[in-house]
Amino acid sequence: MAAQPSSEIEALRAALNAAERRVEAAESHANAAEAQRAHWEGLARVLQQRLDGFVHNIPGIAWESYFRQSPGTHQSPVREQSPATMDVDYVSDLIEPISGYTADEWKQPNFWLELVHPGDKAQALADSHRVFREGHGSSSYRWLTKGGRTLWVTSRMTLIVDKAGVPIGLRGVTMDETGIKQAEAQRLLDAQEAIRARDEFLSIASHELRTPLTAALLNVHLLERSLKQLSVPPRVGEIVAKVERQQIRIANLLDGLLDVARIRVGRLELAREYDVDLAEVVRDVVDRLQPDFAHPGCAVDLASAGLVRGHWDRLRLEQVVMNLLSNALKYGNRAPIEIAVTSDGVTAKLVVRDHGIGIPRTSQARVFERFERAASSRHYGGLGLGLYIVRQIVEAHGGTISLDSEPNVGSTFTVELPVRQ
Ligand code: ADP
Repeated sequence: MAAQPSSEIEALRAALNAAERRVEAAESHANAAEAQRAHWEGLARVLQQRLDGFVHNIPGIAWESYFRQSPGTHQSPVREQSPATMDVDYVSDLIEPISGYTADEWKQPNFWLELVHPGDKAQALADSHRVFREGHGSSSYRWLTKGGRTLWVTSRMTLIVDKAGVPIGLRGVTMDETGIKQAEAQRLLDAQEAIRARDEFLSIASHELRTPLTAALLNVHLLERSLKQLSVPPRVGEIVAKVERQQIRIANLLDGLLDVARIRVGRLELAREYDVDLAEVVRDVVDRLQPDFAHPGCAVDLASAGLVRGHWDRLRLEQVVMNLLSNALKYGNRAPIEIAVTSDGVTAKLVVRDHGIGIPRTSQARVFERFERAASSRHYGGLGLGLYIVRQIVEAHGGTISLDSEPNVGSTFTVELPVRQ
């Protein structure tokens, strides 16, 4: 047998080597692919476990919904589709104990919207539309369970988009908040009941206290009259007058409480009279407060221009002026007080200005509320009802009250009243 030329043997050997290298390369490729697969599988397992861990531990129902017709097969832009055409694709296990329906039942067409309370459907749809515009959001509505119960739920949702960024569905978590809602409703009822009981107590207590006080005031008047006919030392007369003033103060406080109770039940009724003269009302109140203006420097300057007449409740207006003037005296640092009464024929205006302690800007709205005070109770007594009642009376007349004040400079209260009803 003739020997093979050595060049052929070399070529064969080279081809063999090359084939061996290709086999090795293919083997290492296969190994790398296997390693990659194992890596991805491991990662997928970790992610799946993580997801399961989250889904099973959140106190709500996790879900995903997609448009029934995927954007690829549907011609109109996805943004024009309604969330009503979305169907549940995935829903976590908690769905059954909460809604009574199984996950498979939830995957039926239109199911998510069918379970929403009829009164809340429009809102739930509007909220979902908003999520489509904004990328995420929440919606609260009522759900009807299989057992016929009504639940309050809140869904927090995020938009799902495809590779091209086109919205294709929503993903979210729905929480049952019925317990929270019921507790809130109960708290509200309890608070309303407590307020009602307090108002009733205030009303009864002030009424009960007012009755013997009226009798006591009458007796003090009789005593005053009898004393005039007897030759008792002047000191006795002074003491009786003091007792009378103290009784009147208590009577005013009780009347304030009674008024609050009346206002609370919407029973502040006005007894309007024609041609009530506001300037005369102010003069009467100033006269009544004369003993309080006795301090040096505490003068009252009353400016009134023309006729200031209107169709008002005279006694209630007296109460307004009395409260504003008493406050100007009480908080006015014993400086002069200016009162102005004017009218343009349509609106009457009463301005009471003092130069006293003033009211900080942050408290100015609050002082017109019930039991709200801005001054220290150690230095100034009071219940914090006067301005509340004043505002109610002014508003019942269709008017307004405003305040301009600065601490340590003074306060100006302006009341504006329509002349006619
Ligand atoms: P009260 O005087 O009984 O506290 P009011 O309702 O009449 O209740 O007034 C509420 C609060 O408004 C007062 O506690 C006081 O802090 C403040 N206030 C009212 N009038 C004046 C005023 N003329 N100057 C300064 N503070 C005032």
